Amino acid sequence: MITEVISSNELKKVAPVFGQISFDNHEQIVFCNDKDTGLKAIIGIHNTVLGPALGGTRMWNYETEWDALNDVLRLSRGMTFKSAITGLNLGGGKAVIIGDAKTQKTPELMLRFGEFVHSLGGKYITAEDVGMETSDMDLVRTVTPYVTGISEAKGGAGNPSPITAYGVFMGMKAATKYAYGNDDLEGKKVYVQGIGNVGEALVEHLSNEGAQVFISDINQARLEQVRDKYNAVIYGGNNLYTEEMDIYAPCALGATINDETIPQLKAKVIAGAANNQLADEVTHGKMLREKGIVYAPDFLINAGGIINVYAELENYGKQEIIRKTENIYNTTLEILTKAETQDITTHKAAFEIAQNRIDTRKKEQ
Ligand code: NAD
Repeated sequence: MITEVISSNELKKVAPVFGQISFDNHEQIVFCNDKDTGLKAIIGIHNTVLGPALGGTRMWNYETEWDALNDVLRLSRGMTFKSAITGLNLGGGKAVIIGDAKTQKTPELMLRFGEFVHSLGGKYITAEDVGMETSDMDLVRTVTPYVTGISEAKGGAGNPSPITAYGVFMGMKAATKYAYGNDDLEGKKVYVQGIGNVGEALVEHLSNEGAQVFISDINQARLEQVRDKYNAVIYGGNNLYTEEMDIYAPCALGATINDETIPQLKAKVIAGAANNQLADEVTHGKMLREKGIVYAPDFLINAGGIINVYAELENYGKQEIIRKTENIYNTTLEILTKAETQDITTHKAAFEIAQNRIDTRKKEQ
């Protein structure tokens, strides 16, 4: 981890927080530091108009603190719009813990993080994200009630990933209907990039529907496991973006849709689980539109996980979780139609509906 030392004069020039594009009117940013446990975390609370800011905690070995700050700001803003478009009474927030989840995550560090969450009095509610397990949330639950995604054994809704994958599958089917006239995925060539918790469950749905599934990951053992289980094909090339395919499903990390990849992409549909897939939501949204690629906005179709954890707060059961997740199909179609009618990007169409819901609620308050 590189910790840059910058003079106060230089700092003034770079506008580190309020000047960042991703700052976008965040209500509050909390820096959490604990010398004894080595905890360095940032909690971003973007917007609480619709309800408490709910979003997962990501533990990642960021190269610089600036990267960590930028990531938490982008992610927490994304959560505001994800919950708003899904019709949930939740605001947007997110937390990042700086460090390697495999070697630096200790029970003491997680408990200290939980205490920081608790100190916010429920304005921010945490959950699982990359680098976190359900057992970590169970631990955090011992020091604060402001945590979701705890295990079913402890009364929670359990692992959100299968529901997230189901929502992505629904969004993908809707986008396929839009692009091809019907939502049948049988025979469609789908590339799933990243076969972690969500990616694998998505591969299962695709394989059940008879799609030709290609998988890529940096974890070879996992690739072989998933190939054997679902009869998928391991992608053996070194540039997936240039391959002939019908659907590209980014399910690893964000920003894979960018200046470099869009000109190479041959897919007709992009629908995946990763957050912040567009490196720049305006520029790259437009480039996809001009190229005629149907892009199902990430924050809309990967909302299954938040629907799942919201059940813990609202006390609804599995049936309602499935119903709300299946509705992602209808919302995706509505957004794709709105984008075409108004000649705007699908990202903007989804964003406008979400923003409208927030503005309306704000006027009522
Ligand atoms: P995960 O950590 O279980 O899986 C990610 C997978 O991507 C891993 O198998 C990893 O090896 C692989 N990977 C990493 N870099 C890669 C690369 N360059 N190329 C190919 N593969 C690579 O995470 P997950 O829970 O499956 O989530 C996947 C994505 O979906 C993340 O961006 C996450 O933020 C997002 N998401 C997850 C949920 C959820 O419920 N888990 C909800 C919403 C959004």
